[in-house]
Formats: sequence, C-alpha cells, structure tokens
Amino acid sequence: MAMAARDTQVQSDYQDYLAELGDACPFCQLRDNESEQILDETDHCMVVHAKFPYERWDSHTVDDHLMIVPIHHYVAVHEFDDAVSADFMTLVKLYESRGYSVYARAANNPSKTIRHQHTHLIKIS
Ligand SMILES: [Zn+2]
Repeated sequence: MAMAARDTQVQSDYQDYLAELGDACPFCQLRDNESEQILDETDHCMVVHAKFPYERWDSHTVDDHLMIVPIHHYVAVHEFDDAVSADFMTLVKLYESRGYSVYARAANNPSKTIRHQHTHLIKIS
C-alpha cells in the first residue's frame, strides 16, 4: 500500500497544475500570490496549506495537511544556513507539539515533484 495518497480527482488536478507550471517554481511565488494564505511566517520560513493535500497518510485519514516552506529557494534541508535552520526547527517543534507528523523528501526522492524544499505537516485521525 502506498504510504501517501491523494484522492483521484485531487491527484488529477495536481498533475494538471504541475503541467501548467512548466519550469516556474510555485514556492518562490507563494508570498506574491495574494490568494495564498500564509498561516505562520518567520524571517526565513512560512507555513501554508497544502494546495493538493493527501487523503491518506500512514494508512490513516488525513485531517489537515500543511507545509513548511523556506522563503528562499533551497532544494534540501542540509543546504539551510544556521538562521534558516533555526527558523525551521522552531516551526517543526511548534507543529509537532500540535500533533502534526513531519515529513520531508530528500532531493533525490523520485516522489518529490516540486524541487523547492518543503516539509509536510500532516495530522491524521
Ligand atoms: Zn523555489
């Protein structure tokens, strides 16, 4: 069984979205997009809703799916400098304490579709 899965329609919409993006980085444009709701923002990172949330995670129903996204374009966590790392851990600790599981794909993970590093915050029931 797949570890993470989207609803079929959401997955189809997601594929359309990726195709339309081409080479543009959606996460570099997040702060300029007025329709995007930023839930939390530090000097170097922000927390947003996943546009195309998973329906299932670890074989359970997903109740909420957020993402930590660094403001600047990094491809991997190990590229973060100390200031970005500190901001990132502040948000990881905050959301983990609120019951979110934390997951980030490595840059070479074939399931990682958007290159800009992002960390999934997933609450299941
Ligand atoms: Zn980017």
